[in-house]
Amino acid sequence: MTHEIAVLGIFAADAAFRSARLPQRGETILGDSFALSPGGKGSNQAIAAARAGAKVAMLTRIGTDSFGDMALSTWAQAGVSFKGTQTPDHPTGAAFIHVDSATGDNAIIVAPGAAGQISPADIDDWSKTIRAAKIFMCQLEQPLDAACHALEIARSAGVTTILNPAPAASLPPDMLSFCDFVTPNETEAESLTGCPVTTVEEAEFAARELIRLGAGAAIITLGDRGALYSSGNSQVYVSALTAGPVVETTGAGDAFNGGLATALAEGRNISEALRFANATAAISVTRSGAASSMPDRYETDSLLA
Ligand code: ATP
Repeated sequence: MTHEIAVLGIFAADAAFRSARLPQRGETILGDSFALSPGGKGSNQAIAAARAGAKVAMLTRIGTDSFGDMALSTWAQAGVSFKGTQTPDHPTGAAFIHVDSATGDNAIIVAPGAAGQISPADIDDWSKTIRAAKIFMCQLEQPLDAACHALEIARSAGVTTILNPAPAASLPPDMLSFCDFVTPNETEAESLTGCPVTTVEEAEFAARELIRLGAGAAIITLGDRGALYSSGNSQVYVSALTAGPVVETTGAGDAFNGGLATALAEGRNISEALRFANATAAISVTRSGAASSMPDRYETDSLLA
């Protein structure tokens, strides 16, 4: 089967602890609750796209441990095909998420584990899947050299490329020139451009700067203010939609990127793709969890109807 969307990224088992406050150095405290759920930006985005109806291939490395089994069953349930590598050499990625129950503040450690070993040689091994896709999408949780190599291969094969530059990192000089779309949130856009991004006007300016740095077009997500697209010459702004009371915004960016990739794979124009991505993300924030909050196609179409 040919996959319309190839996603390079990581899977991480999210271990979330809630307690009345965050512990101090050297201190042990009792927590209120614990939950283990599937996460990792790449995996979340792949799931969002598959639930939106796309045929999706996930390219990553996982271990042969129980978190690796969790990744495989999560993808099987969502209809995502795993086209990466599973070996016993390294553990599957995991994230430690500590939430202060009183304030909602959090502190997070992501250990990419096996996915931290993804190399340009892996990308060569997976290049058939990348070249055959309509859309290639990646983030920055796996090594940068592998992401850059994959974007370059996709671009040279005429595949539309999306880079979600999260978490914020400084990029190799030519990386943005391999991106048809770069999709930072406000803080990532600030860190890539050095320009403040607190208003839609500032986002327009930062988007033009991202294009000057090499990107084909920029889409800056603005949380509950929606998202702004700019190709330099033309701009499209969508304000955020309300799909119900906001429960948790974790994974909103992943929902947005999964929806965007799906709409572009279907050949929709940028205004339509932006609306679809915005609606996908708006529904995801009305639910808890990341992967578990991704809407199916019917729900997104209903919100847009
Ligand atoms: P996260 O890191 O929490 O996954 P992010 O910081 O990458 O998210 P945001 O810019 O916060 O991404 O949000 C992505 C998109 O989600 C927004 O562009 C918008 O479409 C949607 N969104 C976010 N917050 C809300 C909200 N409160 N109501 C409706 N839509 C929202």
